Amino acid sequence: MNTTQVVKPSCAFCSKEMRFVEGDVIFGEKWFHKDCAPKYSPSQS
Ligand SMILES: [Zn+2]
Repeated sequence: MNTTQVVKPSCAFCSKEMRFVEGDVIFGEKWFHKDCAPKYSPSQS
């Protein structure tokens, strides 16, 4: 297994790269910007 590739986490809402600033949140294995988290509705699917 190739473990040299680093996965850059991206926001599950806007798909932009996470920068891990204060306020960012994680739901399960999904990261969200602090501004994107309130917009994400898991029950919407
Ligand atoms: Zn985002």
